[in-house]
Amino acid sequence: MQYRRRGAADYRFRQYYHPIEAATETEIRAVQETKLQSTMSYLATHSVLYQNKFAEAGIEFSAIQTIEDLEKVPFTVKQDLRDSLAAQPPFGQHQAAAYEDIVQLQASSGTTGSPAYVALTESDIVSWSEMSARGFFAGGIRPGDLVLHGFSMSKGFVGGIPCQQSLQYMGAIDIPIGADGGADRLLRACADLRPRAIIGTPNFLLYMAQLAPEVVGCQAHELGVERLVVGGEPGGGIPAVRNQIEEAWQAKVCEAMGGTDLGVIYRGECDEQDGMHMLCQDHIIVELIDPETSKVIPFEEGTTGELVYTAIGRQASPVVRFRSGDHIVVTGTSCACGRTGPKIRCFGRTDDMLIVRGVNVFPSAIQDIVVSMTPQTNGVMRVYADFDGHTTQKNLKVLVERGEQSNAKQDPELIAEVTTKIRNALAFKPEVIMVAPNTFEKPGVQKVALTVREKPPIPELE
Ligand SMILES: [Zn+2]
Repeated sequence: MQYRRRGAADYRFRQYYHPIEAATETEIRAVQETKLQSTMSYLATHSVLYQNKFAEAGIEFSAIQTIEDLEKVPFTVKQDLRDSLAAQPPFGQHQAAAYEDIVQLQASSGTTGSPAYVALTESDIVSWSEMSARGFFAGGIRPGDLVLHGFSMSKGFVGGIPCQQSLQYMGAIDIPIGADGGADRLLRACADLRPRAIIGTPNFLLYMAQLAPEVVGCQAHELGVERLVVGGEPGGGIPAVRNQIEEAWQAKVCEAMGGTDLGVIYRGECDEQDGMHMLCQDHIIVELIDPETSKVIPFEEGTTGELVYTAIGRQASPVVRFRSGDHIVVTGTSCACGRTGPKIRCFGRTDDMLIVRGVNVFPSAIQDIVVSMTPQTNGVMRVYADFDGHTTQKNLKVLVERGEQSNAKQDPELIAEVTTKIRNALAFKPEVIMVAPNTFEKPGVQKVALTVREKPPIPELE
């Protein structure tokens, strides 16, 4: 296996990374249906999950020949994959490649504390790299560019190693610091190495720009960065946020989007900055559904819905009709750039992830730590999200109930201990506030919302 694709540098002056990006609907359909049919034969002999699913639904794999036929197949939801993983660790009943052919593992940002793990063969790595390269290329990154890595490099998330692999594949050079390395270190590398591009979450790149004078003694726009490819959260597509980032860095911001279950990046914005094109129709079939009725709806400008993805050609962890949880609006179906993939913006995800200074944070993971510290704590916590949306550059407020037998006089020590444990385990610094035992409702039949948006009526917050 090679790190860099053959002839990577020759792609520098192409209009698109791959011809499929500008193919007609008929051309795309021909490619997709051929690959769909071979995918169905592959699943019929390799995937226990889909053998079971198809049998339950009374469908033959050979009956799925066209895009329209796909609508007969039941959805795969995140819980299906979690159940599959639990039934057959480490890669689940949807592991479809031989174990000895699997060379890499990535973890998705699961919403219940435990992530979902996906496996890759060498062929899967090349496909993922190819897809992400198209996203980076659409966003203006070119072979030969130095690219500062501002997404999280840790926890097995696809914003880390797979992004690095994709940049390497396309002939760019990744500077692997990562959001977890801290804004200071990133800015230092930026001043030392003068990368042409930065990748990261939009709000984190904005935060970096604000810190630049203090850390490197100049304005962010004096660092010579020309391109910012952002993703992982909404923001890059919100004009007010985009303008702020572009002004701070004097660089063009393009948004990209993907997800662990299908790849890394498979949608990306072009220079028109009018929504993210589908760039990878030869690797993924994408359907738009009405999340209420689950019916397929056409990609028409202004339409909203949830994206459903089917991997075609994936070896290790293929999924069919996977409900992404990404809620989107179609921003256009044609573009001055010539790409034909519909353009979308994502306005929400069906999960509760928070992003604290560029680091993904799950309230359930904080809860795990607080629970591990009983009886000093009562095992009960809430995140008090005193900000709009899911992203903050401030310290995240974490309210923790002290244990029944703990003395409030010991709070400073306990706060320091919880803070250190959270920082060590989750790579962000919380603002821990101790509250009395039994302040919050106990878990019951209703799922407890670990994140509270309204200011809780407790004296500690007055
Ligand atoms: Zn375009």
